[in-house]
Amino acid sequence: MAKIAIIGNGVAGTAAIREIRSLDSDIEIDVFSDERHSYYPKPNLMDYVGGSRGLQEVIRYGPDWYEKLNANLHLSTPVTHIDAGIKALSTPSGAFSGYDSLLIAVGSYPFVPPFEGMDKRNVHVLRTLDDAVDIRKAVKGARREIIVGGGILGIELAVAIKQIGGEPIVVTNIDRLLPIQLDGGASEILIRHLNRMKVETLLGFTCTGMTGEELATGVKSTAGDVVEGDLIVVATGVRSNVELARRSNLSVDRGIVVDDFMQTSAKGIFAAGDCAEWNRTWFGIIPWALSTAKTAAQNMVEFGSSRFGSIVASNTLQVAGIDLTSIGMVHVESPEFDQIVSVNREEGTYYKAVIKDNVVVGGIALGNRKVALKLRTLLSQKIDVSEMRSTIFEID
Ligand SMILES: Cc1cc2nc3c(=O)[nH]c(=O)nc-3n(C[C@H](O)[C@H](O)[C@H](O)COP(=O)(O)OP(=O)(O)OC[C@H]3O[C@@H](n4cnc5c(N)ncnc54)[C@H](O)[C@@H]3O)c2cc1C
Repeated sequence: MAKIAIIGNGVAGTAAIREIRSLDSDIEIDVFSDERHSYYPKPNLMDYVGGSRGLQEVIRYGPDWYEKLNANLHLSTPVTHIDAGIKALSTPSGAFSGYDSLLIAVGSYPFVPPFEGMDKRNVHVLRTLDDAVDIRKAVKGARREIIVGGGILGIELAVAIKQIGGEPIVVTNIDRLLPIQLDGGASEILIRHLNRMKVETLLGFTCTGMTGEELATGVKSTAGDVVEGDLIVVATGVRSNVELARRSNLSVDRGIVVDDFMQTSAKGIFAAGDCAEWNRTWFGIIPWALSTAKTAAQNMVEFGSSRFGSIVASNTLQVAGIDLTSIGMVHVESPEFDQIVSVNREEGTYYKAVIKDNVVVGGIALGNRKVALKLRTLLSQKIDVSEMRSTIFEID
């Protein structure tokens, strides 16, 4: 009987299990996780910190899910080495050998700049359920929480902390929030929304580290400014987990390099999710993890049966009831692109459509889910918008 091993029990790992089982009921599946908890979707961590979800409700798949799909789950079992030659994995509890195909789905880790004082007890990052438990506990005893980083994670975390009675402030080194997803105009509207919720924001603050002795008492900037706070969470981006692959002599760049079949530089070894880099492209979002895992799983069951076709980068989040969608290309300078923007400061809405050759290739919709849906449809169906430029944000 064929044997598949999966390293990593996150979005990509579990999506691969599902796909493999839908194609083949006999293949033996072993999945290794360095975590002690079974699978939980990371967005659930925000609900947990924000108090709308209890600990038990964070976990999505318990042992019964794996039993039903006839997959062997090895929790608290980090894989430390891959020997591609003899098709064996090393773990602290011994070797696992004889797999036919291997999927590396080890995700990413929080990237932290070389900040002074990261080792202080009240300085955190958020990636795992254990991190979320620590942060929620720490908010209870804190007077002011500083979130370093104005990306999606930082903003959602600040809102979650506010929901449980915290006093969060987001500090970021550049001049706007969500720099990947939003332009300056949309960021301004988002800041108004956040300020209305009493979530403070401080732009242009280049953090260099923490103040304080044993415990952090705040963060300091290159300009010598200090923001005081007694709980600090650093949310300054993520990087692919490539060390295991590098140590195992696989080709690695920003992520683990894969081809159209999601196969790495070693035959029979595949990669998917946050750790995989395809065609010089890399995303740290769930749609990427799901679609790369699906392609990898199909090729592990029958090599050559599926080719990866990329995804359009898309982020949708809800900040205190405000819908925010950023899709495709939103930052363009070149004259071949055209932009239509509509701002309503009173209503707190901001819409932008980026157009090339009369087709929408990107956009932002802040404050209205229906406009987001319309932009998504125009983009995915490549609809000619030359006749609807003045009504592009109108909805029925
Ligand atoms: C708090 C939070 C909220 C998020 N919210 C969103 C959202 O709303 N929308 C969105 O699109 N994306 C969101 N993301 C990003 C999204 O969760 C990731 O893109 C997604 O989880 C990637 O899936 P993955 O399977 O590649 O990695 P992961 O889900 O991180 O899973 C990788 C697993 O591999 C394990 N592992 C690592 N090394 C080893 C090893 N050597 N041996 C065994 N196991 C190992 C890890 O512990 C982990 O369990 C969020 C992320 C966080 C942290």
